[in-house]
Amino acid sequence: QTPARRRVQVLVIGGGQAGLAAGYYLRRAGLDFAVLDNAEAPGGAWQDYWESLRLFSPAAYSSLPGRPMPNQPGHDAPDAAHVVDYLTEYEKRYELPVHRPVQVHAVHDTDDGGLLVHTDDGTWHTRALISATGNWTRPFVPAVPGQQLFGGRQIHTRGYRRPEDFTGQRVVVVGGGNSGAQIAADLLGLADSVRWVTRRPARLLPDEIDGRALFEIATRRVQDDGPRISDLGDIVAVPPVRAARAAGLLDDQPMFDALTPVGPRFRDGSIWPADAVIWCTGFRPALAHLAPLGLRTGERDRIATAGTRAQSDPRIHLLGYGDWTGPASATLIGVGRTARQAVAEITELLR
Ligand code: FAD
Repeated sequence: QTPARRRVQVLVIGGGQAGLAAGYYLRRAGLDFAVLDNAEAPGGAWQDYWESLRLFSPAAYSSLPGRPMPNQPGHDAPDAAHVVDYLTEYEKRYELPVHRPVQVHAVHDTDDGGLLVHTDDGTWHTRALISATGNWTRPFVPAVPGQQLFGGRQIHTRGYRRPEDFTGQRVVVVGGGNSGAQIAADLLGLADSVRWVTRRPARLLPDEIDGRALFEIATRRVQDDGPRISDLGDIVAVPPVRAARAAGLLDDQPMFDALTPVGPRFRDGSIWPADAVIWCTGFRPALAHLAPLGLRTGERDRIATAGTRAQSDPRIHLLGYGDWTGPASATLIGVGRTARQAVAEITELLR
């Protein structure tokens, strides 16, 4: 097929874990499909995570549908490189038709009721589309007065690799979620000082809540008979975070009001001299390619969904991103179920 005339029943955009889980069920449903991914290599965002990061659950509870994730020898919880190997192997094993690197720019309606997908490698025509582009490519940093005045280094979670890059430095870590807690704990011992600031007091989940328990809680929530995860806490108590908290080395403090040339300034007027600020302030969904469709949107750049389906367009499904596309849809263990649901609905639509 020439680049301008490719035609499939279903196109998946994004070849991370969510795109692959979709591919698994599309293959089983016997549909004609392709996956477009802008990365050079398999693995999605896992290729970019920091070196010390470990999964918040054992391999057995971090699997996509079909092939279980093998254990990583010597590790209770695997590292990101192990997940990349697993996803690479998964893609091969199920012979998923992933095209990369292909950047999707925009999706438009066609006169025949289909969708035309414009990429940096020509166009594709499809009848239904699964968007699985994740959040990683859209780091979010809140606006804070004086941000441009600060003379030190500022990076986002996305740019963090290893604590050695901050040896001997005074570092301020911003953000009360998993990344903030884990990066602050990671820096201890190598940075000169680590100060962790959060907009509201940091809340660790009970020790026994790992990835599997999160999935189960999210699932019970669908039946409306369990607590919300957010009622229980925000941060998974992975061993390094738990240990640093227990040692009194990881206490969070309220967020600062402004940045000055030398460091953050707090409500009481005090200034902490700092060499670096690490913004662990989250991400937004990477959905710019869907803008031309004018789908109904929700808060924080989200698209309004019913399950995985865009409320205003049954041809479009969203996978991953966050719980707003299904319980635990943005986790390895959780995305399979939402992928199955999306493919079942698409199969019905195409019938
Ligand atoms: P991604 O992995 O981001 O994949 C999306 C793919 O789409 C990427 O290859 C991207 O480059 C591509 N793409 C984006 N835009 C376009 C475009 N316009 N055209 C073409 N391609 C595009 N989950 C767990 O289950 N266990 C954990 O322990 C865990 N730890 C985490 C730790 C951190 C620090 C973070 C940030 C997340 C963690 N998660 C964990 C959550 C989740 O598993 C990951 O975020 C996961 O990478 C999400 O997969 P995805 O397929 O939705 O998105």
